[in-house]
Amino acid sequence: MIHGGSFLDPLTSETPESRLYSMPTSSESADELSIADLQRHIHQMYYEKDAARGTDGTFMWLMEEIGELASALRGDDRENLAEEFADVVAWLATIANVAEIDLNAALQAKYGRGCPGCSRLVCECPNSEKP
Ligand SMILES: [Zn+2]
Repeated sequence: MIHGGSFLDPLTSETPESRLYSMPTSSESADELSIADLQRHIHQMYYEKDAARGTDGTFMWLMEEIGELASALRGDDRENLAEEFADVVAWLATIANVAEIDLNAALQAKYGRGCPGCSRLVCECPNSEKP
């Protein structure tokens, strides 16, 4: 599933790919895309459509992508599996945009100092607990 539908912006004939290479990133390497970069990138490409769709409709797309990830995990197509991981993360960033959640800040706050349960970098929580 291609995120957001149409690939061509009717106003500029710009493709998402051309925007990707022109946008500034905070990552040191051009090969790295931080979660903050990704969220900005998704916002730039799709925010108007995403905001119009809203959190409920966008959540349904995420669930569809998670189903596709489940199928890919059971298959043996590594390229497809990688794409499905990318789609899930992209749709999660999309919902964060619509819900106005800064993913980088949220991740730093919850996981930036180690396990949220025991505060260790290598979790020492009992196996009966979720982490
Ligand atoms: Zn822990």
